[in-house]
Amino acid sequence: MEGMHLVSREYKPEDTVVTVGEVRIGGGHRAYIAGPCSVEDEGQIMEIARLIQGRAHILRGGAFKPRTSPYSFQGLGEEGLRLLVQAGRAFGLPVVTEVLSEEEVERVAEQVDMLQIGARNMQNYALLKKVGAQKKPVLLKRGLAATIEELLLAAEYILAAGNPQVVLCERGIRTFSGSLTRNTLDLSAVPILKQLTHLPVIVDPSHGTGRWNLVEPLAKAALAVGADGVMIEVHTHPQEALSDGPQSLKPERFRALAAELDALAEFLDGRSRGGANG
Ligand code: PEP
Ligand code: MN
Repeated sequence: MEGMHLVSREYKPEDTVVTVGEVRIGGGHRAYIAGPCSVEDEGQIMEIARLIQGRAHILRGGAFKPRTSPYSFQGLGEEGLRLLVQAGRAFGLPVVTEVLSEEEVERVAEQVDMLQIGARNMQNYALLKKVGAQKKPVLLKRGLAATIEELLLAAEYILAAGNPQVVLCERGIRTFSGSLTRNTLDLSAVPILKQLTHLPVIVDPSHGTGRWNLVEPLAKAALAVGADGVMIEVHTHPQEALSDGPQSLKPERFRALAAELDALAEFLDGRSRGGANG
């Protein structure tokens, strides 16, 4: 990246704080985003929202799903969006959902608190310009094989189009991890990004690993390396989930993890202020 970019620390030294509903991310504010991979039906999303509220800050749920196979569940579309918004309202949680195409951006932006650009669309420049031209904050996920510079330049498209409210998300990249993990979570990206950009950075250990029993250790590691939050998939019945069950935590496990993350965050903040020993 040559020259001065809007995303760079040189351009703006102080941390950007992104506001989602009333939740702040960045500048010392950490946020936990949780919810199912896909909104499946009214009972599912209402139950998950009920069980994570108080511990999660933002509710996630896919309505328009970017599935690798065209024969996999594609999401409930408009109906999923409606159910997600209803669940968020019922339990006082702002909501984030993915947009797949330019045509749906305006309609979705009217209803949700944050728009997600998925890994598969990180370099969909028309879509980046479109979300840059609206007013809701954007969660931009790193592409499956994207470099850190490419992620920053994707964010630059959104800022250059007029929207400064962007949160970056490390969600794992393709390596030769074989079948034991779905992706390789690149935690080194977090401190590198924090050095290069003022934008908040969160980590998604669910897609980053593909396995629910790796989510807890990597969520903790994410905060330890300086992430401004995590995004975690939660499902009441992971075995029956229509997408990403194997990487989904049950709500009670999510709640326990969130409590541990709070304690870890307190420890880290104490240290950054010099701690008990000054
Ligand atoms: C998601 O978070 O719903 C998702 C599809 O993740 P990714 O774009 O990182 O694969
Ligand atoms: Mn998923």
